[in-house]
Amino acid sequence: LASPVGHALAGLALGRLAEPRVSAASRLIVPVCIALALLPDLDFLPGVLLGNPTLYHQGESHSLGAALLVSFAVALLLARGGPQLLRIWLVCFAAYGSHLLLDYFGTDARLPIGIPLLWPLSNATWISPVPILPGVHHAGATTDAWLATVFSLANLRAIAIELIVVGPMLLLAELRRRRYVRARAAEAMPVPGERQ
Ligand SMILES: [Zn+2]
Repeated sequence: LASPVGHALAGLALGRLAEPRVSAASRLIVPVCIALALLPDLDFLPGVLLGNPTLYHQGESHSLGAALLVSFAVALLLARGGPQLLRIWLVCFAAYGSHLLLDYFGTDARLPIGIPLLWPLSNATWISPVPILPGVHHAGATTDAWLATVFSLANLRAIAIELIVVGPMLLLAELRRRRYVRARAAEAMPVPGERQ
């Protein structure tokens, strides 16, 4: 499925878009969005510790259920009881959800194909019938074999395609952010002739 490069870029785009809109968490929202966009793939870690990195990969962390729970917990911490809790939750959910979206439109060669989007309601796995991203290859039953396939030429190509797909989203997010900041600044300016 998608590489950490594509996931981090998507998180960055969402964080930059959200930053001026969530004053309660504006200093942390960009790094938090990047972390949330990467977080589902931490499911490699228990397998790495056991010497088989893909053992638990693409499991429950790749679901909307996990996205709702994790983003709510993070939003609670960020909003600290403030009135922007719902808005911050939405931003965090979008960042975590961006991971699921990119993986959904990826290519998967390893069983079970796809991700369990509807967990805990269902364990069925889902993947787009029309793949957009070539996906990174990582195979091998041992950590050494797995690392050898991770750092391959095919994966460089996959990352290049992710840059082409996600790069414009980052640009769009920057443009929308600028437009929003300008509009807010114009609102804050006193309108001539208003106070008479
Ligand atoms: Zn993933």
